[in-house]
Amino acid sequence: MADVITRARILVADDEVSIRIGCQKILGEDGHEVVVAADGLAAIEAFKAGGIDLVMLDLAMPGLDGLQVIPRLREIDPDAVVVMITGYASFETAVQAIQAGAYDYMPKPFTPSELRIVVQRALEKRALLVERQTLQKERARSLLDLAREQSRTRTIIYAMGEPLLVINAAQELVFVNPAARRFLQEGVTGPGRPMAEALAVPGLLEACADAFPKLTGETKTISTEVFDPREQKTWMLTVTCLESQAGETGPAGWVLVLADITPMKDLEKAKTRFVSIVAHELKAPVGAIEGYLDLILSDLEPAVEKYRPKIERCRDRAGLLQRLIRELLDLSRIEQGRIERNLETIDPVPTVQETCEFLAEEAGKRKVSLMVVPPAEPVRLLADRGELTQVFTNLVSNAIKYNREGGSVTVTNERSGAHWKVAVADTGIGIAADHLRHIGEEFFRVKTAATVQISGTGLGMAIVKRILDLNHARLEIASQEGVGSTFTLFWPLAS
Ligand code: ADP
Repeated sequence: MADVITRARILVADDEVSIRIGCQKILGEDGHEVVVAADGLAAIEAFKAGGIDLVMLDLAMPGLDGLQVIPRLREIDPDAVVVMITGYASFETAVQAIQAGAYDYMPKPFTPSELRIVVQRALEKRALLVERQTLQKERARSLLDLAREQSRTRTIIYAMGEPLLVINAAQELVFVNPAARRFLQEGVTGPGRPMAEALAVPGLLEACADAFPKLTGETKTISTEVFDPREQKTWMLTVTCLESQAGETGPAGWVLVLADITPMKDLEKAKTRFVSIVAHELKAPVGAIEGYLDLILSDLEPAVEKYRPKIERCRDRAGLLQRLIRELLDLSRIEQGRIERNLETIDPVPTVQETCEFLAEEAGKRKVSLMVVPPAEPVRLLADRGELTQVFTNLVSNAIKYNREGGSVTVTNERSGAHWKVAVADTGIGIAADHLRHIGEEFFRVKTAATVQISGTGLGMAIVKRILDLNHARLEIASQEGVGSTFTLFWPLAS
């Protein structure tokens, strides 16, 4: 609702002085300011001065009459509200006044209350017009702001070095910035085509096909690596889901942003190559040292028997170094994709049992009980036995190593939907919550009073993670310090 104008400026133009004075008095009493004019020209001049909310205009004035004045007022303000005062009430004069653009008309003579009613109605009309004007101005201003904002955003997106593409719910390309044109098929110059036809990098399409269905509910963004064989470049693709409007189902589309990570990948490869060369060079001499120390210990002269503890310590250290070298080589082989995989459809349970049997002696030494609970129904996986053995050797030996005397390790496994779910639970020292997310980082080891005497390399879990990635398996760790940890694997079942 428009505000009512309570203190208006009203122009009364009439050649009859009694009308001018009468209007001035009555409307003045109501709080309005009244400006008077005795003829048409004076009325136009007074109106030009501005600030007039309402014009009461006599139809018959000497010189310019009311009908001639209205168009001149309209030229000055198209929203001018005019009430025509007519000498006598007739249908014709009413029609004439309205046709000339008056809002209302009022026949003379009129009573104060008739005047008040007409003025009130005309001021309401004026208030509506003023409000409309304000809204129009605001709308024009916000449209301008919006246009400016859009053009600024567009400039930023166009200037971005990172390629950016927008896909709609029908999987059509709807926006591509200049940096992203390198991913388009030859001849495709812009948006408007199905993405399957428009995109030139198959890896990008596959990554989208994989990411789109996963972007529901809580997951709004997925990042994945994409290799472009044409340019020999590796890109980090980040897919963000565009929410649909309220009431609509499914996403409105997806935004793809790519970052060139080729230099980082090259650096990573160089690092892996370097580590692999160094480890190879160290393998033989450290092996020889360990071997000779074993030999010396097996046939130690009584005269130097007192050195046995020190030599044993050297041999153990050399053994740990050997393990570090072995694990570094394993890791670099996986990273370089240089591992031979023998994927077969197998029952994994015997492999887990064999691994546990192999580790039973170690568990016995540490007075830890070890148990494998077979699954209720048979399980089949497409897996490499060597990889399975490596994963469970690491998990179970950690569960023994980071346990306490009299503790236990229990391996349970079952089918869980499309996965084989295996849990390795221990009653050991546990892992603090803020360390959990670092498990699996290369060389990460928890350093506390409880772990200081336990030797390790910090590479076992990094290898486990790499092998799980190769197998599209996932690991969840639940742990409580001083109570124990459970490492749960979800390995996809053979389809
Ligand atoms: P490490 O050779 O040191 O055992 P891993 O990569 O196998 O290296 O494990 C990394 C770190 O994770 C360990 O040093 C240890 O602090 C922690 N950890 C792994 N498994 C367990 C476990 N079952 N209980 C407690 N801590 C564990």
